[in-house]
Amino acid sequence: MALSEFELIRRFFTYPAPGAVLGAGDDAAIVRARRGRELLITADMLVAGRHFFRDADPQRLGHKALAVNLSDIAAMGATPRWATLSIALPSADARWLAAFARGFMRLARRYRVDLVGGDTTRGPLNISVQVIGEVPVGRALRRDGARAGDDVWVSGTVGDAALALAARARRVILARGERAGLERKLHAPAPRIALGERLRGIARSAIDVSDGLVADLGHICERSKVAAEVDFSMIPASATMKRHLERAPARAALLAGGDDYELVFTAPAAKRPAIAALSRRLGLKLTRIGRIVPRARRARMVTVRGADGRPLPLARGGYEHF
Ligand code: ADP
Ligand code: MG
Repeated sequence: MALSEFELIRRFFTYPAPGAVLGAGDDAAIVRARRGRELLITADMLVAGRHFFRDADPQRLGHKALAVNLSDIAAMGATPRWATLSIALPSADARWLAAFARGFMRLARRYRVDLVGGDTTRGPLNISVQVIGEVPVGRALRRDGARAGDDVWVSGTVGDAALALAARARRVILARGERAGLERKLHAPAPRIALGERLRGIARSAIDVSDGLVADLGHICERSKVAAEVDFSMIPASATMKRHLERAPARAALLAGGDDYELVFTAPAAKRPAIAALSRRLGLKLTRIGRIVPRARRARMVTVRGADGRPLPLARGGYEHF
């Protein structure tokens, strides 16, 4: 590398870590959980050519590498505190590194997450981030807490990131001006940290939508040993999505598109007023899309019903074949 490894780490990956006992620079970082909290640990790897395009904008990549991890912490109802960044780089391109670090650190500072260490090596571009979060003991929102009778909710709108990808592949043709908004959802997802934290004591289970609405709700059902019924017409769609819903690739994006990083959660019907109040307080749309039901033997875990009340034909993962 033109820059030495040591110089590169110092210039691009060393920042104050006010929330840690000891940040980057030693053999290991030292952190301390607050009283009465437990720690949550999550990791996500982004591989060039698989999770992002090789020529992806480095600032957006820095943002996204951290955002996907923050989303996992949000889905647990926890507060992110510390991150590590392990990165393999084909070359030490100072401009690329500066943009990547900017994207990563802007998001880190917004949520007061300290970058406390990592590893840097030469190799095919690969970005591995780990985030450690905190939650009051026993209060995390898990996938296994859903019960029959719960409402199923989702934040924001879903499928926009996947619709942007479908447009890139020319499976849907977007009008001028429709693309930018969708691309923002694809490249700069906003982790729902504030929502996750405030859902403690309201929601019984939660997950972030990374694989697609139907698949991720299916993960809740599997862990909770229940099933879910969703009304297709209640699924929150953006204005752009609504304009294209006649097309199968758009419907597939709505049901099975990943990468939105919205939260899906379940809560007892008695919590509807609290959820409506939370939605107003956060200025974030929270939509009731269905309910949790007992799991009948061999029945599918997630059923999506169309306007006529009949189940839509869904393949595994929620892809539609009609
Ligand atoms: P070691 O040889 O002990 O693994 P390194 O030379 O790999 O140490 O790293 C030196 C210090 O820099 C460590 O504290 C490590 O956590 C930190 N570090 C290395 N790479 C990164 C990175 N990409 N982001 C943040 N901190 C890093
Ligand atoms: Mg090392």
